[in-house]
Amino acid sequence: MEWHDISPGSVKWMRVFQWEKGTFPNVKLNMLPVMCYHCENPPCVKACPHKAIYKEEKYGAVLVNSERCKGARKCWQVCPYGAPQFEEDEPAKGMSKCNMCIDRLEQGLKPICVLSCSMRALEFGPLEEIIKKYGNLRRLEDMPRDFSRPAVVFKPSDQKSQVIPWDHERALELWSKRQTFNGEPLPDVFASNSDVTEAPRDIVGRNKLVLKPRNAEELKYYTTDDE
Ligand code: SF4
Repeated sequence: MEWHDISPGSVKWMRVFQWEKGTFPNVKLNMLPVMCYHCENPPCVKACPHKAIYKEEKYGAVLVNSERCKGARKCWQVCPYGAPQFEEDEPAKGMSKCNMCIDRLEQGLKPICVLSCSMRALEFGPLEEIIKKYGNLRRLEDMPRDFSRPAVVFKPSDQKSQVIPWDHERALELWSKRQTFNGEPLPDVFASNSDVTEAPRDIVGRNKLVLKPRNAEELKYYTTDDE
């Protein structure tokens, strides 16, 4: 954000979504960085009535001509990933989005997200090279169908393995019981194990991946930890 001089708020060229799945003892917290994936077959280019979006040849970056953009938002409607960004919920100003840090590429530098990821979770390079290294998985579970051929490949996280054997029934038992207070027994934390193992979906905070939030408020909710 700093490199591109974008103030904190509703415009996020890189959004990191978090969502939870499953219930105890098989809970998973998913994380997914989503920027413009500079699709090989970008529907946003075809949808723009003002021909403001184009795919340049050298790096394959899908770029916006901000002088042409009139904020029609057709790009947002067709982009499966919600990559086009707007400052306000109401149609007014034009669109902006990740530009692959093309200014940096021209200087022989890496995109700023790749450089700044402290876990080295992002890599950038010619698509064929990246595919050779990591395979050709273009879509993760929960993501939309890849009809636009996003120019990105994913390396799914490893399956969870049990490092220390433990008994989840016993854990629930210990978890539910409480000590006495002033000699009086305290009620259990939960009445039945199924209150934990079959928790209704609506008590989980972010229980699904929402790539196209309806407004700025919803976007902040689904990406709150990327601030
Ligand atoms: Fe266009 Fe969305 Fe693909 Fe980016 S991710 S190229 S905005 S369709």
